[in-house]
Amino acid sequence: MASPSPAGMLFENVFIGLGSNLGGREHHLRLAREKLRSHPEIELRQQSSLYRTAPVGVLDQPEFLNQVIEIATRLTPQALLHTLLQIERELGRVRDKKWGPRTIDLDILAFDQRRINTTELVVPHPEIRRRRFVLAPWAEIAPDFRPPESGQTVAELFASCNDKSAVHV
Ligand code: AMP
Repeated sequence: MASPSPAGMLFENVFIGLGSNLGGREHHLRLAREKLRSHPEIELRQQSSLYRTAPVGVLDQPEFLNQVIEIATRLTPQALLHTLLQIERELGRVRDKKWGPRTIDLDILAFDQRRINTTELVVPHPEIRRRRFVLAPWAEIAPDFRPPESGQTVAELFASCNDKSAVHV
């Protein structure tokens, strides 16, 4: 839930999904976390274990490492998205093939209880309930969080997820 900071500004809790399947995957995830943590408007609150997950979509590519983190931020959703896209660029992601290999992918899963639907940003992320590689790490750190519109907790979404792809710590 949103909570006021000492200065009276509103911090909101945000969940971010991280994924990498190219090169030093753990290194890429760590660098992305460090860049987020060093941002003056972002506090890192929780981080899940790293999960090794089978690729979805384009199957002929290396296994992914996925993680979910919780941050508190005073950034607007749009400003946070631009921060994430900047970090993706800094880590050298080459955007070519949709669902293809990537050094780092950063998705806003949920932004407190906000519902956002613009050309640039859809929150909660529309693929959440179909993706074990998001729900497994998310359920580890926030099983009782209820993404808006889902009517279920993250733990319940994970338990009822039909995605059978392999996901393990
Ligand atoms: P992708 O190929 O998944 O990395 O797509 C990146 C693009 O998805 C970004 O440029 C965003 O404009 C858009 N996008 C829409 N919703 C979200 C979201 N919830 N989190 C991150 N990116 C999003």
